[in-house]
Amino acid sequence: MKTQVLRTSHDVRSRSIRRAGRLLRMGELVAFPTETVYGLGANAFDPVAVRRIFEVKGRPRDNPLIVHLHSVAQIHNLVESLPLLFWVLAARFMPGPLTVVLRKSSGLPKSVTSGLNTIAVRIPDHPVARALLMEVNVPLVAPSANLSGKPSPTRAEHVLEDFDGRIAAVLDSGRSRIGLESTVLDLTKTTPVLLRPGAVGQEEIEEAIGIAINVRKHRANRPSSPGMKYKHYAPEAEVVLFEGTPARIARAMKSMARSLKGQRRVGVLGQSKLARNFQGAEFISLGDSNPAVAAHRLFDAFRSMDRKGVEVILCEGFAEGKMGTALMNRLRKAATRRIRV
Ligand code: AMP
Ligand code: MG
Repeated sequence: MKTQVLRTSHDVRSRSIRRAGRLLRMGELVAFPTETVYGLGANAFDPVAVRRIFEVKGRPRDNPLIVHLHSVAQIHNLVESLPLLFWVLAARFMPGPLTVVLRKSSGLPKSVTSGLNTIAVRIPDHPVARALLMEVNVPLVAPSANLSGKPSPTRAEHVLEDFDGRIAAVLDSGRSRIGLESTVLDLTKTTPVLLRPGAVGQEEIEEAIGIAINVRKHRANRPSSPGMKYKHYAPEAEVVLFEGTPARIARAMKSMARSLKGQRRVGVLGQSKLARNFQGAEFISLGDSNPAVAAHRLFDAFRSMDRKGVEVILCEGFAEGKMGTALMNRLRKAATRRIRV
């Protein structure tokens, strides 16, 4: 199979969108851009296409998929009922990078939700994603378009790195604006539970709904969101994450880089200021201290380090808070070692 690269303008009726829609209706897999990361799309009502998503990604079957919609109107026949909080959140954050987990109704193939009685849904806020969803007018499952465990794709080139020749097409629309996966919020409990931090922050959610929410901490032996138990977002290289003040981080990184010299190929990821400590080394800047910029660059930087043959990535941690929390969540999951200085 040759993977078609379909360039997109934001024109809703573009030829690329129509072609992608045709392929999806035929049961093919098509990757498409969203504001978070690129998704690997399939018709959510086609059990064969849904099965192929799991196969192609190497995704464990017990890790359910997010169903993507063009509007709230498409939710009604997927869920049992919509709690009041859903409408409050929808008014504020949809379309956008917020996924909500609701009680599902029957209808979709069981494989979509890995047999759970709940379903995760999102309305992406990207003109190409929305145009495609309108074109096909069926819900699309769209997990991140990467091999399971690898960093999520933030450019069409990343999708091709993992799936060239294995999927029908990718809609290319340049870099993803946010660069990290959506916030996942479980609305099936009396008090909502934040399952995965993302660009929509805990405080914004609490401000919108007027109550405090629970935050699920990662416990390897008891995952609340099935996906939480798997290794995620990791490049081939080992990631060593440094947390602490910038000055201490720089000192600790330098000494580790020295000790690895001549043994392992080292790369460094961090704020621009850090670069002067690592002249001559593979260094990729994650911007200044703004975690949104770092989030936007992170997965691309991981993949670049792999292409350069880097074996150990020394990565600077960022301060928590909104995007900082989402960024640190991904970094901690990618890290094989965490060093606090
Ligand atoms: P991905 O689309 O690859 O970014 O992963 C989707 C994430 O949403 C995974 O962590 C899933 O475990 C989670 N998810 C999907 N459906 C549900 C659900 N019904 N309940 C809880 N978590 C879910
Ligand atoms: Mg993923």
